[in-house]
Amino acid sequence: MRQQRLVNQINFLNFTIVHNLTNKEFDQQHIWHPYTSAIDPLPCFEVSGASGAEISLASGETLVDGMSSWWAAIHGYNHPALNAAAHQQVDKFSHVMFGGLTHEPAVNLCRQLLSMAPAGLERVFLADSGSVSVEVAIKMAVQYWACQGRPEKSRLIAPRNGYHGDTFAAMSVCDPVNGMHSLFTNSLTKHVFAPAPQTRFGQAFSEDDILPLEELFARHHEELAALILEPVVQGAGGMRFYHPEYLRRCRQLCDTYDVLLICDEIATGFGRTGKLFGCDHAEISPDIMCVGKALTGGYMTLAATLCTEDVARGVCEGNPGVFMHGPTFMGNPLACAVAGASLSLINQGDWQVQVQGIETQLKAELSRCNELACVQDVRILGAIGVVETKHPVDMKRLQPLFVKNGVWIRPFGKLVYIMPPYVISSEHLSRLSDAIYHCLSHTYG
Ligand code: PMP
Repeated sequence: MRQQRLVNQINFLNFTIVHNLTNKEFDQQHIWHPYTSAIDPLPCFEVSGASGAEISLASGETLVDGMSSWWAAIHGYNHPALNAAAHQQVDKFSHVMFGGLTHEPAVNLCRQLLSMAPAGLERVFLADSGSVSVEVAIKMAVQYWACQGRPEKSRLIAPRNGYHGDTFAAMSVCDPVNGMHSLFTNSLTKHVFAPAPQTRFGQAFSEDDILPLEELFARHHEELAALILEPVVQGAGGMRFYHPEYLRRCRQLCDTYDVLLICDEIATGFGRTGKLFGCDHAEISPDIMCVGKALTGGYMTLAATLCTEDVARGVCEGNPGVFMHGPTFMGNPLACAVAGASLSLINQGDWQVQVQGIETQLKAELSRCNELACVQDVRILGAIGVVETKHPVDMKRLQPLFVKNGVWIRPFGKLVYIMPPYVISSEHLSRLSDAIYHCLSHTYG
């Protein structure tokens, strides 16, 4: 009885503490944010609205968005066509299970996806997030070889500096250093890593670049299920832009040695690099391809793993005859309806002119950061601009300074980078480049 009273008192105390906190305080004390400490987090900025290429804060400021919410909101926020698709679908049904049922939003989305994807990709597995689509891709590759009677082909090979997500199988193919493999050594499958591609996009390709990968293929091919990489742009693992010839040679090596090629287009897909897919720079098709992020125009989480007819048949012939994966929210109709509307916008084709315009303007304006002593390198590809500093930036100082300058830019490590919504105006884009220049020069001289 006394114990119960004590429990009730504690519950009441917890209730009052939790409800007396401001949103900001509650958030800081109880909610975990991406890649942050639970005990000493930097403060977050509360958002009250977002429209076009602007984010409004509850504190009253309006910021020009440089991030597209991590590559996703390519058409801008609060887009009428995407809003309409969500409203229409929510009034019909928001979700039904995908096991044994199907629906127009999924069929429409997959039809569009396959018509735009690199040639040869004919099957779609809808997944909940980018990381899950990578899990699915890896599982497909391993099951494919197991069903061909070659279970020893179960390892993956990946270039260093890659990034494929935070779940375990995805993490196991991320760069071992950036991906902090040392923390999880006993839980991660050990894969084969090749040096990161060195020839930059736009430079003359050096044959030396592919030699280490050739050697690793020659040595390990009998145990390799697949090569996984991000085509042309290595994103979160360093924002590196590499030569498409490297990708072409990867395709050739995979063909020569009977290894599947998985292209992770989660960040690069849907026009961001100046081509519809990163693969298109090299004019190659992968055996398996992952897309996510911009798939729904950044409205909600949805990803997809596409594969060739050969992979789909290979996976499903023999025992167990099915692909053993089926998330609860697979093919969520609401997400599929918005994604279908987003792909329709892409198919209208404006993205090409928009991305080209962003690239040209960034080359003219962001390159000025090269003048700063703290800057190591400035690089631009499509609608991506990267300023690499010589030393890691101090987020605690830089983040509020960006906000004070009216922009939303979220650096990490030595990388101050932007990938704005394609619909950004040239005036807003100038504000982003100016803010990077001024905030870096103000903070680091
Ligand atoms: N692959 C790449 C190339 C990515 O950039 C990301 C997301 N940062 C992922 C996979 C993981 O996607 P998600 O965060 O949706 O799980």
